[in-house]
Amino acid sequence: MSHVLIIGAGGVGSVVAHKCAQVPEVFSKITLASRTLSKCEAIAASVKERTGVHIATEALDADNVAATVALLERIKPDLLLNVALPYQDLPLMDACLQAGVDYLDTANYEPPDVAKFEYKWQWAYRERFQQKGIMALLGSGFDPGVTNVFTAWAAKHHFDEIHQLDIIDCNAGDHGQAFATNFNPEINIREITQRGRYFEHGEWVETDPLSWSMNFDFPEGIGPKKCYLMFHEELESLVQNIKGLKRARFWMTFSEQYLTHLRVLENVGMTRIDPVPYQGKEIVPIQFLKAVLPEPASLGPLTKGRTCIGCLMRGVKNGQEKQLYIYNICSHEEAFSEVGSQAISYTTGVPAMIGAKMMLEGKWQRPGVWNMEEFDPDPFMADLNRHGLPWTVVELP
Ligand code: NDP
Repeated sequence: MSHVLIIGAGGVGSVVAHKCAQVPEVFSKITLASRTLSKCEAIAASVKERTGVHIATEALDADNVAATVALLERIKPDLLLNVALPYQDLPLMDACLQAGVDYLDTANYEPPDVAKFEYKWQWAYRERFQQKGIMALLGSGFDPGVTNVFTAWAAKHHFDEIHQLDIIDCNAGDHGQAFATNFNPEINIREITQRGRYFEHGEWVETDPLSWSMNFDFPEGIGPKKCYLMFHEELESLVQNIKGLKRARFWMTFSEQYLTHLRVLENVGMTRIDPVPYQGKEIVPIQFLKAVLPEPASLGPLTKGRTCIGCLMRGVKNGQEKQLYIYNICSHEEAFSEVGSQAISYTTGVPAMIGAKMMLEGKWQRPGVWNMEEFDPDPFMADLNRHGLPWTVVELP
C-alpha cells in the first residue's frame, strides 16, 4: 500500500496515471502534479471514468526545489515518479534528497542550453542517495528502460557473453499529420539532430546525424523498414554493466516525409536551441516550434498502426555462437482504447509504472542511483506480460 507522486501531466504522465490506477493493491494513493493544473484535472477525470479510481492533483513548478520539497513534506509520498521533461531531473532529485523520498524517471538529464544527454550528472548523486538511504531508478521507460531489461534478461538466461547489441526502435504507425513528434517535440528534435554515436571495441565512434542507415525486416507483418543510427542514452549504461559487450548501437525508423520536414526546419534555423532576439524579446526557435506543433497527447485518436521495439543480440553460449531477438509490438489503437493515448506514450508509461511497482514491492530496492539492467530482470519481464507490453523472444540462425 503506497502513495506515488507523478510529476508531469503530458502524454506519458497520462498513461502512468491510468496504469497505476489499474494496480490499486500497490498504488493505494496517487497524486498527479504538473505545471498546468487543468491538465492534471483532465487526466484525473479520465482515470476516474475508466477505472473508478480517484487521483489527487496539484500545481507544481518542478524547477523550484523548495516548492517540490514543500509538496513532498505535505503529502508524504513513498515515491516520486518523474515524467516531466529531462530538464527537471536534477531539481527533482535534489528535492527527493532533501525530503528523503525515492525517485524514478524515464529520460536522463539534459542541460537546457546544450543538446547533450549523458548520465554523468545523475550518477554524481550516487553517494548522496546511498547516504540518505533512498533509491533512484533511472530510465524506466521503453528505450531506455525495457531495452535495458531485455538485454539483462538475455545475459542472465541465454548467453555466457553478449558481444553485439543492436537496439532497434520502429514506429510503423501513422498519425496523418504532415509533421508531428510522438513525444515532447523539443526533446525529440534535440535528440534526433545530435551527432550519432555507437560503441565498438571499448571506444565511442561518432557519425554525422542520421548519416548511417540499414534495412531491418520487422516481424509479424510489419516488414522491412529503413532504420537510422543514433546515440541513445541506454548505450552508456549498458556498455558498463553488460560484461563482454564489444559493440552496441541504437537504430530508429523515420519516414522520408518526417526527415524532409526535419531537414527544412533545421536549414531555416527553427531547430536552434539558442535564444534569438525577436520584436524586443528573446525567443528560442525550437520552443516556438514546439508551441505550433501538435501536442503528443493529442495524437492518440489519430494514430493507427503498431510500434516494434526490441534488442537484437549476438554472443556465445557454451562455446556456440548464438543470435537472439527480443521485441514487443504495441498497437496504437489498442493503447488508445485502453488509456486514451498513442503507443509511444503507452510504451513509456507502462514500464514507468512497473519500475515504480518493483521499487514499492521491494523487488528492486537498494539505496543509491541505479540503471535498469542492474536489477534482476525476471519480475519486470513477468510484469510486462501482465500489464500490456507482452514480449516475444526468437532465436535467429
Ligand atoms: P509532454 O511534453 O507531453 O509532457 C511533459 C509534461 O511535463 C507537461 O505536462 C509539462 O507541463 C510538464 N512539465 C514541463 N516542465 C515542467 C515543470 N517545470 N514543472 C512541472 N511540470 C513540468 O512529454 P511526454 O509526456 O511525451 O514525455 C515525458 C517524458 O518522457 C520526457 O522526459 C521524455 O523524454 C520521456 N520519454 C521517455 C521515453 C522512453 O522510452 N524512455 C520515450 C518517450 C518519452 P505543461 O504542459 O504544463 O507545460
